[in-house]
Amino acid sequence: MTRVHIQDLGIRFGNHDVIKGLDLDVRSGEFLVLLGPSGCGKSTLLHTIAGLNPVSHGSIHIGEQDMTRAEPSQRGVGMVFQSYALYPTMTVKENLAFPLKMAKTPKAELEKRVAAAAEMLQLQPLLDRKPGQLSGGQRQRVAIGRAVVREAKVLLLDEPLSNLDAKLRTDLRRELKTLHARLGNTMIYVTHDQVEAMTLATRIVVMHQGVIQQIGTPAEVYDRPKNLRVAGFVGSPA
Ligand code: ADP
Ligand code: MG
Repeated sequence: MTRVHIQDLGIRFGNHDVIKGLDLDVRSGEFLVLLGPSGCGKSTLLHTIAGLNPVSHGSIHIGEQDMTRAEPSQRGVGMVFQSYALYPTMTVKENLAFPLKMAKTPKAELEKRVAAAAEMLQLQPLLDRKPGQLSGGQRQRVAIGRAVVREAKVLLLDEPLSNLDAKLRTDLRRELKTLHARLGNTMIYVTHDQVEAMTLATRIVVMHQGVIQQIGTPAEVYDRPKNLRVAGFVGSPA
C-alpha cells in the first residue's frame, strides 16, 4: 500500500516560488491526474516527488517513510518523461533490463521481469530492435516498460503521450488504464489535456501558478468547478 503524502510543500527557484504551500494526499492505488496550463508547476511537482529537485519547504512521505530528502533511487518510484529518454545504442530488451542491471537484480529475476513488462506493453516482437527502428508510440511503450520493470509502487508520468498523434494517444490511454488495473500501483500523471484527464483519472488535481485550485473526481471537477479558473480550464460551459 503506497500513499504519497505531501505537506506544505514549497519549491523555489531563485526568487520565484513555483510551488506554494501545497498539500496533497495521493491515495494508495489511485490514478491521480495533475492538470493545469503550461508553466503552472506540474513537472516541478512530479520531479520533486521523484527526488530530482531540492525541497525548499515542507515534506513528502512515500508509504510510511519521510522521503523529503531521500536520494531518487531510494524512493521506490518510477518515472516516465515526456520525451522518451531511451539509450539509442541498446536494444529494446537491453533498455528494459538496464534499471534492473543497475540494481544488480539476479539474472533469472531480471529475465522474468523483462518478459512480463514486454508482454504487458506488447513489446515482444520488438525486443531486438534499437530505438531508432521504432515508431514514436513504440518508443513511449518502451519508456513506460522501463518504469514498470522496476515494479515501482508509485509511477510518475509526465505528459507521456503529448508527442504522439491523436490515434496513438487514444490507444495508449486505453493501455495505461489496463496497465493500472493489472499493476494496482499508485499513478501520478501530469497533463495539460482535459480529455486525457477526464478519461484516465480517479481524481483530478487542477493547478494554477503553483497552487491547487480543486481536487475531485472528473465529474466533480467538470460539473461543479470551484472557481472561474477551474471552470475556464475544465468546467462545463454552463
Ligand atoms: P508545467 O510542467 O506545469 O508546464 P513547470 O513545472 O515545468 O510547469 O514550470 C513551472 C515554473 O517553474 C515555470 O515558470 C518554469 O520556468 C519554472 N522552472 C521549472 N524548472 C526550473 C528550474 N530548474 N529553474 C528555474 N525555474 C524553473
Ligand atoms: Mg511540464
